[in-house]
Amino acid sequence: MATSKVKETKAKTAAKTKTSAAKTKVKASASKAKASAVKAATATATKSTAAKVKAKVQSTVQSAAKVSHYPVLIIGGGAAGVSIANTLRRKSRLLEIALIEPSEQHYYQPGFTIIGGGAYSLKKATKQEVDLLHPSIIWVKDFAETFEPKKNSVLLKSGDKITYDYLVVCPGLQLDWDKISGLEETLGKNGVCSNYSPKYVEYTWECIKGLESGTTLFTQPPMPIKCAGAPQKIMYLAADRFRKKGILDKFDIQFCNAGPGLFGVPFFAKALSKVIADYGITTNFGSNLVEIDGKAKKATFEVTDGDGKKSKVTKDFDMIHVTPPQSAPDFIKSSPLANAGGWVDLNDRTLQHNKFANIFGLGDAGSTPNAKTAAAVRKQVPVVVKNILRLINNEAVQEGYEGYGSCPLTTSLNTVMLAEFSYGGKVTPSFPKLDPRENRFIWWIGKKIGFPWMYWYWMLPGYTLDIPSKESYAEEFLDKD
Ligand SMILES: Cc1cc2nc3c(=O)[nH]c(=O)nc-3n(C[C@H](O)[C@H](O)[C@H](O)COP(=O)(O)OP(=O)(O)OC[C@H]3O[C@@H](n4cnc5c(N)ncnc54)[C@H](O)[C@@H]3O)c2cc1C
Repeated sequence: MATSKVKETKAKTAAKTKTSAAKTKVKASASKAKASAVKAATATATKSTAAKVKAKVQSTVQSAAKVSHYPVLIIGGGAAGVSIANTLRRKSRLLEIALIEPSEQHYYQPGFTIIGGGAYSLKKATKQEVDLLHPSIIWVKDFAETFEPKKNSVLLKSGDKITYDYLVVCPGLQLDWDKISGLEETLGKNGVCSNYSPKYVEYTWECIKGLESGTTLFTQPPMPIKCAGAPQKIMYLAADRFRKKGILDKFDIQFCNAGPGLFGVPFFAKALSKVIADYGITTNFGSNLVEIDGKAKKATFEVTDGDGKKSKVTKDFDMIHVTPPQSAPDFIKSSPLANAGGWVDLNDRTLQHNKFANIFGLGDAGSTPNAKTAAAVRKQVPVVVKNILRLINNEAVQEGYEGYGSCPLTTSLNTVMLAEFSYGGKVTPSFPKLDPRENRFIWWIGKKIGFPWMYWYWMLPGYTLDIPSKESYAEEFLDKD
């Protein structure tokens, strides 16, 4: 992006900031007081007054949405939005930051896999949004709906409008449950479960726990999806649970994947095929779930053969774990910020919008061709923060994101294969001397204790954690079988 364009945007927005500064200041201090009131209210909430407190949170937070201008506006308060807001706050104490997020709960989604596997609780994976944001960050509890990037403004569902100097877009992705006919009616019952929603994730464990024999199907839709390894991670946890109970041989476990292979990075795909063989799992590639009849316990797949010919295959099941099709949120797809695929159109390495210089994006909603993971967000946050601060100081943006993503593949209830990779399928581990394809107990401890700790107490609060991940660490393992 040309520096002159950036400067022009900066000049225009600086003038606007000056004129609205006094107004914003008054409203911001009121909002700060409101934010701490919200926090205090939440902390002292008892069951009997919960409804009243909820109403109070709602009204105090919503009144903040009437503020019309913020120097930095963030859309989405998930892994990316909270981390960006708190990191920016640490780097620049005076910068006013507002964040639009409709939900009061924040979930540690990487924990969903082990909740479904019976090794973690939803309670541990859930916190209140208000407790995660620095009190000086203004939380606008609303949905962003329409973008007017030429006017530097965003329209909200409530009808309010917020203008900004710099915008960060990170509303995650959309789960398209309705693309599978019959799924919504039966999800959460009839042995139909999914780790992809906090509403149903505990039902996955109920299904696994309750089965003594039968056919279990695990589905994977076409890419991209968040955490591409998650559809098979839960399958290994289920298989290991059956093995530990001594009943694995009573199961027909099938992986039904719309894609052509086990994993996008061949180095790890090869290692995973050994895990599949060890559990005696059948793989069906080119097999896309299109319909479920929960009561009859039948799942229909559109199967594409080697010549591209399509046919329908219906399978019986006792349990089916469904990974829903996923896409960019509709309000992004229909906006001027979207690329042809509907994702926020970003430069792969600077994370600046390809058309609008004062807009950045990251996380699952972004167009960058990395694995959509919280691990990717960890590496993207410092790049976005640095580049916003550089623009504020009239400096050009810099490249910094190399496409890192990571997927801790839970290969059993006490081992993990820690897949770390970057753009172009390069294997880029964070730890030297350890073969990344090994199924290790230490990474299981990481998955259950270390990574959640890092997420809640390091990444979200805005501490920059720069653990270098290097291609050179993997070199000695690349040629080994
Ligand atoms: C089952 C499962 C397993 C996973 N396993 C792992 C793993 O092992 N390792 C890993 O690194 N990652 C894993 N992930 C992926 C990881 O959770 C996501 O990649 C990460 O949360 C992306 O962060 P994000 O901020 O882009 O999106 P999210 O964290 O999903 O947050 C998006 C936020 O935007 C808000 N929002 C939506 N629409 C609007 C709107 N219109 N206006 C304002 N706000 C809006 C949402 O309410 C939400 O809070 C897993 C995910 C799942 C579901």
